Amino acid sequence: MATDLVVDPSATVGQESKTGRSSGCRFCGTALRHTFVDLGMSPLCESYVSSEQLNQMEAFYPLHVYVCERCFLVQLQEYVSPEAIFTDYAYFSSYSDSWLRHASKYVDEMVRRFGYNDRSYVVELASNDGYLLQYFVKKGIPCLGIEPAINVAQAAVEKGVPTLTKFFGEQTARELAAEGKLADLILANNALAQVPDVNDFVKGMKILLAPEGVVTVEFPHLIPLMEENQFDTIYHEHFSYFSFITAEKIFAAQGLVLFDVEELPTHGGSLRIFARHAEDDSKPVNSRAHELKQREIAGGLTRLETYAHFADRVKETKRKLLEFLIRAKREGKSVAGYGAPGKGNTLLNYCGIRSDFLDYTVDRNPYKQGKFLPGTHIPILHPDKIRETKPDYILILPWNLKKEIGQQLSYVAEWGGKLVVPIPEVEILA
Ligand SMILES: [Zn+2]
Repeated sequence: MATDLVVDPSATVGQESKTGRSSGCRFCGTALRHTFVDLGMSPLCESYVSSEQLNQMEAFYPLHVYVCERCFLVQLQEYVSPEAIFTDYAYFSSYSDSWLRHASKYVDEMVRRFGYNDRSYVVELASNDGYLLQYFVKKGIPCLGIEPAINVAQAAVEKGVPTLTKFFGEQTARELAAEGKLADLILANNALAQVPDVNDFVKGMKILLAPEGVVTVEFPHLIPLMEENQFDTIYHEHFSYFSFITAEKIFAAQGLVLFDVEELPTHGGSLRIFARHAEDDSKPVNSRAHELKQREIAGGLTRLETYAHFADRVKETKRKLLEFLIRAKREGKSVAGYGAPGKGNTLLNYCGIRSDFLDYTVDRNPYKQGKFLPGTHIPILHPDKIRETKPDYILILPWNLKKEIGQQLSYVAEWGGKLVVPIPEVEILA
């Protein structure tokens, strides 16, 4: 295992370049030459289309993923500026019941383990609509959310969660540290994958962290993404896809040590890593961290060949999903979608599935209702539409929530309706 990685400062992401493309790996700067998977051209997966926009041009960007031959960071080149993606982001975390339970449980666990109280200070990066920090607020633990999307940050403030509308990185961290408020806990859930410059983001954590503070970061884990064929979790908003080994190198480069890790079922399989200052020896690296690292090495994640096979399986999944839909349509069946998540848009655009296959999809988020899916222009309706039209098949696009959605949709059995998940392979649920 190479622990001697040197970060070339001239190679950090080329946000200023005229083409908008970076010259090399987001972490180590090495030129990117090896394709992980090429999903073709796709629109931004959270850019829902209004009825007025239906007749206008729509921007499509390459969804071509590379793996770095040196640090094995799986990544997109930067085609779109983060400002274009995140300033009016449609994703409100609070619309998922299971995600709220996950957040509440996390807060309980952290308070129990590290003893946070009314003298502690918790900072969440990309705090969304305050879905998580609201539980710290309820316990009387001082906290601050940092969230770049204006509309989402506003929703947090209305919940009583102090929120700063900003991108996080070295500069924001220095401003906060200058006010003398270092964080006992910094957390970032599903944010690390979405920052264009991972080095700047993690450096900011180092600056803002109190001497004995803890950083926890959750991100989708590369192992289940590869093993369970979750290619639809790749989209322009997710610049990077991490193994534990690569995450460890990125944190080490900024003087942070990963001392623990948990494997979580969220988003199809995520990691929650625990980091501390390299100088803080009060928290030794535990066996879970050692064990996962060994498992990744044994699984071939430090060899380039391992990454090369992924693309073939993705192509086969497309063929199988289209086979199912073509057969259903030939038999005269109706098919609707459930959910309008980002991952659904990658899947539908890559497979070329439009309203010729899916009559409509539904979503509980009122922000999305009445709009159309980017690229495919499938209409997004209120969930009541399912009861009204009684489709034969319902394709669950957020397959990671299939249990929760299966319960919500148990009534479709009344007319013999069947639920279908597309990933890891097309499956009609009993
Ligand atoms: Zn690299």
